[in-house]
Amino acid sequence: MPVLRPRSVDHLLELLADTPDVSVLAGGTDMMVEINLHGRRPGTVLPIGSLEELREWEHQRRAGTVTIGAAVPYADMETGELAELVPALAQAARTVGSPQIRAAGTIGGNLGTCSPAGDILPVLSALDAVIHVLHRDHSRDVHFSDFMTGVKRNSLRPGEFVHSVTVPVTRGWQGYAKVGTRNAMVISTASACLVHDAVEGHVALALGAVAPTIVRASRAEAWLSKQIDLRGSFSVSVETAQEFGRRAASETSPISDHRSTADYRRHAVSVLARRLLERSAA
Ligand SMILES: Cc1cc2nc3c(=O)[nH]c(=O)nc-3n(C[C@H](O)[C@H](O)[C@H](O)COP(=O)(O)OP(=O)(O)OC[C@H]3O[C@@H](n4cnc5c(N)ncnc54)[C@H](O)[C@@H]3O)c2cc1C
Repeated sequence: MPVLRPRSVDHLLELLADTPDVSVLAGGTDMMVEINLHGRRPGTVLPIGSLEELREWEHQRRAGTVTIGAAVPYADMETGELAELVPALAQAARTVGSPQIRAAGTIGGNLGTCSPAGDILPVLSALDAVIHVLHRDHSRDVHFSDFMTGVKRNSLRPGEFVHSVTVPVTRGWQGYAKVGTRNAMVISTASACLVHDAVEGHVALALGAVAPTIVRASRAEAWLSKQIDLRGSFSVSVETAQEFGRRAASETSPISDHRSTADYRRHAVSVLARRLLERSAA
């Protein structure tokens, strides 16, 4: 298949708008599997990994946000300043595949594939991330809750691509945890990200691999806010943490498949939610 190498983001936008049946290739860790094993045949491939603008991230100190280019690989999120600013993103990145996969796989590719088991997606959901989408003729800022529309489906339209993602730098504990069939190199059976905003007094909880899209456990979040004053540091009883986990699990709609049963997924996600809440209190 033809491979056209864009020289710049503007050139990429021209190619995306003018070329029929075109696919962006970032790290290729999903797409090459699709091509080699599942018969995907894009008409034309546009590799974006060498576009420096997409491989950079920036801390907007005044706004209290971080913007991450779509082609930033997991390896760049695992440690260093970015990991300190957005710890849940670093924790999720560390759980992805192997060092080779983390060197190649990107945040834009996780959003492009939009699997409910994608490890970065619960983090973006819990942080209410904004996805910056570009087209030759327009640009859009899409909230994560409007970006993912189903299993491996997103709201990108023809000619558009993900340029970057903005997340807030929050004050308070944040963490990511996942359950799989082994300890490493594993796709999530269930996953959860919890972000405590100690200033606003709120806990955000997002759950992965337990519904067609990432689930924000908004009813459990609201319930918790009524039980505990979440401003600053807080403590939580075993009963409250367990009830929070139960309520979060009741907001999911998992399926049984080759990785797990629906019942196990519901149980696993309630345990993850409880543990993350207890860790944030500790
Ligand atoms: C062995 C192995 C282990 C894995 N383990 C995990 C894991 O533990 N957790 C996990 O979440 N994933 C895992 N994955 C899946 C994969 O690594 C991730 O989904 C990764 O983020 C994909 O990024 P990529 O840059 O390689 O995307 P690519 O394969 O290049 O692209 C994936 C899709 O996204 C589209 N795309 C890429 N960039 C953009 C963009 N900027 N805008 C719009 N569309 C875009 C492509 O057209 C394609 O459809 C694993 C894969 C393998 C092969």
